[in-house]
Amino acid sequence: MIDFNVPPYVGTEMDYVREAAEVNHKICGDGPFSRKCHAWMEERFNAEKVLLTTSGTAALEMAAVLCDLKPGDEVILPSFTFSSTATAFQAMGATLVFVDVRPDTMNLDENKIEAAITERTRVIIPVHYAGVACEMDTIMEIARRHNLIVVEDAAQAVMSTYKGRACGTIGTFGCYSFHETKNYSMGEGGAIVINDPRFIERAEIIREKGTNRQRFFRGQVDKYTWVDRGSSYLQSDLNAAYLWAQLEQADKINDDRLATWHAYYEALRPLAEAGRIELPVVPEGCVHNAHMFYLKCASLEERSALIAHLKKRGVMAVFHYIPLHSSPAGEMFGRFSGEDEFTTRESERLVRLPLYYGLSEADRATVIDAVLSFFD
Ligand SMILES: *Cc1c(COP(=O)(O)O)cnc(C)c1O
Repeated sequence: MIDFNVPPYVGTEMDYVREAAEVNHKICGDGPFSRKCHAWMEERFNAEKVLLTTSGTAALEMAAVLCDLKPGDEVILPSFTFSSTATAFQAMGATLVFVDVRPDTMNLDENKIEAAITERTRVIIPVHYAGVACEMDTIMEIARRHNLIVVEDAAQAVMSTYKGRACGTIGTFGCYSFHETKNYSMGEGGAIVINDPRFIERAEIIREKGTNRQRFFRGQVDKYTWVDRGSSYLQSDLNAAYLWAQLEQADKINDDRLATWHAYYEALRPLAEAGRIELPVVPEGCVHNAHMFYLKCASLEERSALIAHLKKRGVMAVFHYIPLHSSPAGEMFGRFSGEDEFTTRESERLVRLPLYYGLSEADRATVIDAVLSFFD
């Protein structure tokens, strides 16, 4: 059986976890390995400030707190996304306004955003689906014109770029995930990127249970105390040690995933050219990280049949997402702006193939043969 996902593992993870425990004697948050991860991401992504969190969801929650949302405020997001994009903002009492996606990238349609803006709108949340960037120039320009905050849900886009800039570093905030299903992992984990320096100090406070502990560590105050809203959003240094092993080999992991992505793409291209399936589109200016490989069938029925066929051939393939606006919670907490032209229709046709670091060439070939045999 070829699994749909195997968590990334490069082999040095446990050495670093051991080092954290036995050498550093530091297993709570923000120890030496956390600092290494922060510095690496800040340098590599040219980011103002990066802070690891307990999850991508926690990073989104921190961003929502930093946006100072109040009940009744509105946030614009795609309906075609993971629930966390919504829950983080809904928890602040915000109303979710779902905007349609573009059929080519499955990203928020930048041309449908302005119609969704009201005087209550505060935030736009572009989700870089499959690690392919949204049309950020247009989105940032709309945000500037309407004085809105942009929170990039870059959970899937670690190491992706848009016009040379790292995803997550373009909006006011960016959120990464290091869940085991993502390209780089620490089990459960994430990071918030703070691109506007005015928010850094408050972000540190919110992450540290609402205390000014970081200022205390820097010697800026002589005792620390509770000063703001907050929670415990910082992860253990054990998890950071695990992640550090993978960041050290980030390019190797990225190259390996891209090789599988391109092998799938080339092998399935004739089917796309014959009009049997559709393949992902990567717009000009976007460099992606091979977070995912998907294809689109002609219909929901064909997709179900393909998934069943692949399973019989020992290949696990999955679909996603059930659009949030048609989910029970989405109906309660949000509304769809305008017409659902593509969100439901396109999501019903989409199927994801196995893609993970270390997927062997033999397994790659098995997946390709299984897909080709279905369309034969
Ligand atoms: C994975 C993911 C998240 C949540 O990340 P966790 O680390 O699992 O909390 C949020 N948004 C998107 C688009 C994701 O793919």
